[in-house]
Amino acid sequence: MPSHIVLGGEALDIHIEHVAKSYRLGQVDVIALQDVTLQLPAGDFVSLSGPSGAGKSTLLGIIGGLERPDAGKILAGEQDLTALDSEGLAMYRRHSVGFIFQSFRLLPALTALENVMIPLVPLVESDEAKQKQVIEALDRVNIAHRAGHLPGELSGGEQQRVAIARAIVNGPNVILADEPTGELDRRNGELIMQLLRELNQSGAATIVVASHDPDVVGAARRQVKMEDGRVVAETA
Ligand code: ADP
Repeated sequence: MPSHIVLGGEALDIHIEHVAKSYRLGQVDVIALQDVTLQLPAGDFVSLSGPSGAGKSTLLGIIGGLERPDAGKILAGEQDLTALDSEGLAMYRRHSVGFIFQSFRLLPALTALENVMIPLVPLVESDEAKQKQVIEALDRVNIAHRAGHLPGELSGGEQQRVAIARAIVNGPNVILADEPTGELDRRNGELIMQLLRELNQSGAATIVVASHDPDVVGAARRQVKMEDGRVVAETA
């Protein structure tokens, strides 16, 4: 395992101010977030915990520019995400954010190398430069030896490492992980959290991990607890 993983760029301060979000479901509005205010200083490594439906995924989606709040403000560094148009938000996601999901979300017909290359397609022109960056990312999470394999030929833990390589290949300043160990056994879950800790220690990314697994929550440096769309507790 590499002891020190270096990413590009600088971690971002995230300020979430009075954010609210609801979804229209038939005739009813489902409240996902209500009046969430949270400061995530640059380089934070924080867990979002709480029961299913507490609003964790919605908050990750808003921090990552995948969703817009109905009210409130979200600042990533100097940038007010609520003031960006869709193209601006897409640029923010492409340049600054890395997402890691519970179910890995790798494309089954593409090799590990090709999956990790996807985020670079709009960013890097030369095929050689792309390839080099992809191999570096795979190497950082100790999975470069599986570069030519299809996801179906890899274990769950290996697939999640490929997914982490895909999340870090663009040198993100914010890494968002939604139940990243939910489909892994305990040992592989610990390995994934150790990798995230190393990425965080390199200082280049603020990391937010949503999980209801106490082991995952405890592995983060700071804990934020959510319930019914609100932040109900946070550690210093
Ligand atoms: P968590 O990640 O903590 O399980 P979510 O953010 O997924 O919580 O969900 C918060 C609430 O918003 C839940 O009541 C959920 O059913 C609802 N919700 C989330 N996404 C949608 C959606 N796309 N459409 C309708 N309701 C949604």
